[in-house]
Amino acid sequence: MSAVPQAVYEREQMNIVIVGHVDHGKSTLVGRLLADTDSLFEGHEAKVRAICERQGKDFEYAFLLDALAEEQEQGITIDAARCFFKTDKRDYIIIDAPGHIEFLKNMVTGAARAEAAVLLIDAHEGVQENSRRHGYLLSMLGVDQVIVAVNKMDLVDYDQATFERIEAEYRAFLSEIGVTPQCFVPISAREGDFVANSTNRMPWYEGPTTLEAVDRFEKEPPKENQVLRMPVQDVYRFNARGDDRRIVAGRIEAGRLKVGDQVVFTPSNKTSTIASLEGFNTGENTSAYAGQSVGVTLTEQIYVRRGDLMSHLTDLPQVSTLLRANVFWLGREAMSPGKRYKLKLGTTAVEAVIEEIVHVLDASELNTDAVKQEVNRHDVAELIIRTRNPIAFDRTQDVQHTGRFVIVDNYDIAGGGIVRELVEDDSMALRAETRRREFQWIKGLVTLADREAKRAHRGGLVLFSGDAGTGKALLARHLEKRLFDQNIATYLLDGTNVLLGVDHDELAVAEQEETREKLIRHYGEVAHLFVDAGMIVVSTTNTIGLADHQTIATLIAPAEMISIHICPHHSQAPLNTDLVLAEIDDVEGAVDQLMALLHEREFFGTDNVS
Ligand code: GDP
Repeated sequence: MSAVPQAVYEREQMNIVIVGHVDHGKSTLVGRLLADTDSLFEGHEAKVRAICERQGKDFEYAFLLDALAEEQEQGITIDAARCFFKTDKRDYIIIDAPGHIEFLKNMVTGAARAEAAVLLIDAHEGVQENSRRHGYLLSMLGVDQVIVAVNKMDLVDYDQATFERIEAEYRAFLSEIGVTPQCFVPISAREGDFVANSTNRMPWYEGPTTLEAVDRFEKEPPKENQVLRMPVQDVYRFNARGDDRRIVAGRIEAGRLKVGDQVVFTPSNKTSTIASLEGFNTGENTSAYAGQSVGVTLTEQIYVRRGDLMSHLTDLPQVSTLLRANVFWLGREAMSPGKRYKLKLGTTAVEAVIEEIVHVLDASELNTDAVKQEVNRHDVAELIIRTRNPIAFDRTQDVQHTGRFVIVDNYDIAGGGIVRELVEDDSMALRAETRRREFQWIKGLVTLADREAKRAHRGGLVLFSGDAGTGKALLARHLEKRLFDQNIATYLLDGTNVLLGVDHDELAVAEQEETREKLIRHYGEVAHLFVDAGMIVVSTTNTIGLADHQTIATLIAPAEMISIHICPHHSQAPLNTDLVLAEIDDVEGAVDQLMALLHEREFFGTDNVS
């Protein structure tokens, strides 16, 4: 087994952010932290003090930062936007938030991430509207390790009652938005009380100094010690004659894997065991860990594709078509319900719409507006997003990489977001059931992969929907015929046929709402048997409503469903439609189009497309 590489820096590092209302003392606190932890280079403070004296102005700890910035402009020393200070425990990087927009952008895209925050409140001014908004912003960004420093205690005579009043008020607010601060520290950044050192000016306070409190923040476990997450980037085939193995390639974003591990691909629910690790500098290795790009071969040939997420069977990601997320919008055009976007998470790209706007926060003004109907540029919004197909993801606090996404509007990245939690969709229970079914399915000696390899095509379901009289039944028949003529195992399965056979005892009550659910279930299970036998099932859905597409797609999983909707107006097609046909005047032309679509989705190779 290969060793996990030693960190380049032996010392632990942590990114923190310091936020607070303007003039509440952020720069002073940072200057103080740098000075009191001896993190400034030799003579810096003395130099700044000398300049102040020369210019006849009082020394301010904030000047230490300004002076750093100047030196940086001249190309000397440190990056002022990223100040460093050290404690015995670790090194800190202060991610400054010069203009929230940049900070937000970095946070949602993952370019820079604050692991913890210090919220600053002026004891003299008390809790301001901005103090509330900053708390809210942090909670939206998923920064849940927070301490509150109540600054300028010198201005209120180090009064315990003032401190306790502010603590009670702000704690109550934070708890409303789900933030639990680890502690409140009364400080004077200017005088140096309880920043790095405890002083005797507040004998009533028995808690930690700011620095001690910061040292109590917990570091996330290293990525390689987290659960396994490898988004599939691509699947390559060996080209050698008689070698039908495939290499599943991707970057391990979290966790580690080794030969012999049982793995699952989500959302397709396919399981297999890792047979080998191939190429890409892994050499003869039998294990790999987060940060490495690898190719794996599997003991059984299963069909997985880009966008599937590989994990261990014991630590599955979440799956849904609905997720609660916080989105930061950068697009010039507002993000609005009803509009279709592309959501990219890991290696998945899927069509998505806003299901519900829960809350909108204008980040430049930090105004909250709960009733907004769209998300404007630079807004941070809590949304419920619906994706066209189920996607695999994690909550951002569980796994960073798979808990983060971007939203593409017209080919531009227009927003970024983090996943707060899964929202149950209608297929939730059914998905769990089919997953169990898949794991327990009794398999013969001939696997689906064997059938697919022999016939050189995959199984799946082509489902037609649309109003009566649009010609969909005719098109379905012609598609079946074309597939058959191309030596593809196919079968026309009309919903009515399932009703006539499997559900003959329900014929009389088929129209009733209570029966419908059962009929759809039966239809889906019958279709599943056919697709599991490797066939392409062609079906019209007169007996099945559009709303049940998702149910059927879930039932036939891990096989795929292609849905074709026939309607005069494109906009009337449901979200989960693969192809919308306005009308069918040229049946063979439409069949050509369908064959091309099936080929594009890798149901079969080029030989079958004329
Ligand atoms: P920022 O805008 O949050 O970065 O605030 P600054 O650090 O620039 O501080 C704003 C003003 O508050 C400056 O004049 C500081 O000297 C003053 N200040 C900061 N901390 C303290 C403190 O602990 N006590 C007192 N009396 N003044 C402070």
